[in-house]
Amino acid sequence: MIILKSEHEIEKMRAACRTVALILDEMARLSAPGITTGEINKFAEKRCKELKVVPAFKGYNSFPACVCISVNDEIIHGIPSHKRTLCNGDIVGLDFGVIQDGWYGDAACTVGIGTISEGARKLMEATNESLYKGISECREGNHLLDIGYAIQNYVEGLGYSVVREFVGHGIGRALHEEPQVPNVGVKGKGQKLKAGMVLAIEPMINAGNHKVKVLDDGWTAVTEDHSLSAHFEHTVAITPDGPEILTVR
Ligand code: MG
Repeated sequence: MIILKSEHEIEKMRAACRTVALILDEMARLSAPGITTGEINKFAEKRCKELKVVPAFKGYNSFPACVCISVNDEIIHGIPSHKRTLCNGDIVGLDFGVIQDGWYGDAACTVGIGTISEGARKLMEATNESLYKGISECREGNHLLDIGYAIQNYVEGLGYSVVREFVGHGIGRALHEEPQVPNVGVKGKGQKLKAGMVLAIEPMINAGNHKVKVLDDGWTAVTEDHSLSAHFEHTVAITPDGPEILTVR
């Protein structure tokens, strides 16, 4: 069942999502050659304490950290570590959520470390752009898979591939609510979108093929062919006037 949110509830989610966007932006600016992913996680933990919010991922299915930090061929769910130092040329996915006043917010971005290759920059731009293509489909009367269709159609046209194993999701008083929001799809299929739905849209786009492997840590998903992967995410409310990005920076 998809839980629709009232305007009052969306207002609460706006507040949670603004906090997510703020801390994510701070983490992005902190990400530079020489810092470890463990230090970035520690920073996020400190900011959650200061802003009196609960990090949404820590302990979720036993995930051990506040932030998922996924470097280069890591797609999502990378575990931060004080042994993992970011280097010039890396691309780093930061995926972060909070619980504020009982409501969840969830967002992700991929940032370049120092000077990155032209290929990496183009992949990141295409992934970010595909997120906005998907968001623009979040309108009353459209169908759920219109979102995935828009994402897939755009990135495959550029020669990239879309990860299938992981999808976006409804969000509200729980991190993952119905429906699942695939990043691939057929136009006009899936349930009809309604005002009051709040969805986390999160394309994961690979430079090579779409296949995924999970490392022995049980979390980190990497591209099977070790090609680069990028990930961007926003929490989006469907309103009578169209999509509203709640995790806007
Ligand atoms: Mg998410």
